Amino acid sequence: MNLRKLFSAVVLLASSLYAAAQNPAWTQPFPPFHIAGNLYYVGSKDLASYLIVTPKGDILINSSLESSVPLIKHSVETLGFKFSDIKILLISHAHYDHCAGSARIKQLTGAKYEVMDADVSVVESGGKTDFHYAAQPNMHFPPTHVDRVLHDGSTVSLGGTVLTAHLTPGHTKGTTTWTLDETEGKRLLHVVIVGSPNVNPGYKLVGNKAYPHIAQDYAHGFAVLKSLPCDIFLGAHGAYFDLTAKYPRWKAGDRNAFIDPTGYKAYIANREQAFKTELARQQTAKP
Ligand SMILES: [Zn+2]
Repeated sequence: MNLRKLFSAVVLLASSLYAAAQNPAWTQPFPPFHIAGNLYYVGSKDLASYLIVTPKGDILINSSLESSVPLIKHSVETLGFKFSDIKILLISHAHYDHCAGSARIKQLTGAKYEVMDADVSVVESGGKTDFHYAAQPNMHFPPTHVDRVLHDGSTVSLGGTVLTAHLTPGHTKGTTTWTLDETEGKRLLHVVIVGSPNVNPGYKLVGNKAYPHIAQDYAHGFAVLKSLPCDIFLGAHGAYFDLTAKYPRWKAGDRNAFIDPTGYKAYIANREQAFKTELARQQTAKP
């Protein structure tokens, strides 16, 4: 093992430990389950991954941590699907808790990695061009080649399923909210998978040289999120949409447990208020 490999191994170990230390729910297994139509939950207790099954192969959203990959594979297989059927890999945004496993998943499945334009350099540099975490090795991840660059409004199609990529930036420059339609019985259901509307601790919303338009981007993201029709409310973390509260209802037989347009609106409104409060605080604190 050369020094560079040793260094990356140490960094990976450190980031896994960091992740585990950050939130135990990130690495805690969670039962995989059918959400609606051809959409399934295959993530951990908090790091959400979604499988969309089509006759032409499958789509996976969020590779999560490197240590998540065997867990996601196990969930896919528990549902009766083949991991090697994953043809397209997508992410919510270019932070290691959603994309560190991508290199490994591409290696295992040969999936095409499709990423929003403004997150591509972060993904391909392994986090070294991130506007906030560039200098923090514990936030880095294996650099991963992007096979198709997406833009705001791009669609991803496979076997009759169409997903739309909505740019909802701020949290990262290319944070992506995914939408798709599912049918349950005769009912058409609009699915929204929120990319992340959150302002992380330490984010500079005012005078940010690495991301001058961050505040305008967040504001634009909230406008987009408020415009999306939503029946089934999902997101990059289970905590966004109360996975652990809704799943027991689902398990008890309530197949509508994840249909929550009111919860979606309330969540977005709550996060927008948190953004506005933090922006006002930083504007006031500015000398
Ligand atoms: Zn993030």
